[in-house]
Amino acid sequence: MPLLNSSGNETPGWAIVIHGGAGGDPQKWNDAKTKLRRTGLNRALTAGRDALAQGGNALDTVELVIRILEDDAAFNAGRGAVLTKAGKVELDASIMDGRTGSCGAVAGLTATQNPISLARRVMTETPHVLLAGKGADEFAKAQQVPLVAPDYFLSRNRVADNEPHFGTVGCVVLDSKGDLAAGTSTGGTSKKLPGRVGDSPIVGAGTYAANDTCAVSGTGVGEEYIRNSVAYDVAAQMRYADRNIDDAVSKIMRQTLDAGVGGIIAISKDGTIVMQHNTPGMSCGAANSTGRFETHLALERGGEPLKSDGNSNTPVSPDAENAISKLILQQVVDWNRGDIDAFMKPYWHSDELTFSSGGKVTRGYEKTLAGYKKRYPDKQTMGVLAFEKLEYQSLGSKAMQVLGIWKLERDNQPLEGRFTLILRQFPEGWKIVHDHTSKTPDETGNP
Ligand code: ASP
Repeated sequence: MPLLNSSGNETPGWAIVIHGGAGGDPQKWNDAKTKLRRTGLNRALTAGRDALAQGGNALDTVELVIRILEDDAAFNAGRGAVLTKAGKVELDASIMDGRTGSCGAVAGLTATQNPISLARRVMTETPHVLLAGKGADEFAKAQQVPLVAPDYFLSRNRVADNEPHFGTVGCVVLDSKGDLAAGTSTGGTSKKLPGRVGDSPIVGAGTYAANDTCAVSGTGVGEEYIRNSVAYDVAAQMRYADRNIDDAVSKIMRQTLDAGVGGIIAISKDGTIVMQHNTPGMSCGAANSTGRFETHLALERGGEPLKSDGNSNTPVSPDAENAISKLILQQVVDWNRGDIDAFMKPYWHSDELTFSSGGKVTRGYEKTLAGYKKRYPDKQTMGVLAFEKLEYQSLGSKAMQVLGIWKLERDNQPLEGRFTLILRQFPEGWKIVHDHTSKTPDETGNP
């Protein structure tokens, strides 16, 4: 029987998302690198899809898929790991079981072929969560997991690749039983200090899974993911702030993290798939039991979904309100100095500007300016202006509506009215694109 989620839609029986690292613009890659990445993503995603379609469980699938990506020199994990400043590899990985909350992680491995499998053994064979450095390598020996000689890893230099790009790998899965799991594996950041550990082996930063919410894997500047507990924050926002998974991830990608920091893949317990990045590119792919199968090297708008009104999820930041109120208050100052040109500065310099007053619409900046100058030929007629009761209403990520009351003192004759401004954010700043103003009592004669 198909599952129904809270909005009454059928949910996929199983779903899988993978990433192969966030970073530079794939349009700048050469053909060889593009092909290697695409092939690698398709191969790993196909294996994951087939495993899940045959009833494979979430944890096994995460391990299987990450092992494939670790063995692929096109990615910065396992075989293709980048080197430290000292010219060696130090591998990090973690895995988490959303059903039980168990997790395991390894950091600073130098000889393990598949760090994700060792992380899983830390989870199942020890009372610990994270093993690092020498002890982790010794645990690998004791567990008889395959070890490799150092030259196994130096493949990074053989792949035509001069970009200091990221290429961490991750996988999150919802299996057909409703269990979630997540895993991440990496060589870390290129030329890192020996001993540096990133977010990938830190549960709650680079990896997280809990059956009541979601499974998450991150990629990017690990220090930022640790500072902001990124992977856990996706689940926490769903759990405590009742956000859906798209909104939770968008908030982190667009507000918590600076642009250019990285990406997130996630699956909610009802099978919603999320892939988002705030870097120019992110290698990623998704498949589910409804037949979806896709891989990408970059996503439009960084994968941020548009809402039904065509706007993205990102609300206008509090800074926007500050910036706009500054503009408007400066207008009052300019008006009261008798300077209409300065007053008009925040208006959009375009023929598409609209100004509506007294039932008449004026189109274009020049005509609006001329209209003002005609109605208010001198400082005397301009009087003393004040704005009151400003109300801000966000219209998506790049537009704002401002409602307010204007008051004009002139020859002891107070005038008063309402205005509605629509502002849009342009690269050069916020501009008024529409202004509607009316007097009280208004043009209809209503009091
Ligand atoms: N997050 C990884 C780290 O900081 C790097 C990456 O994702 O590219 O180790």
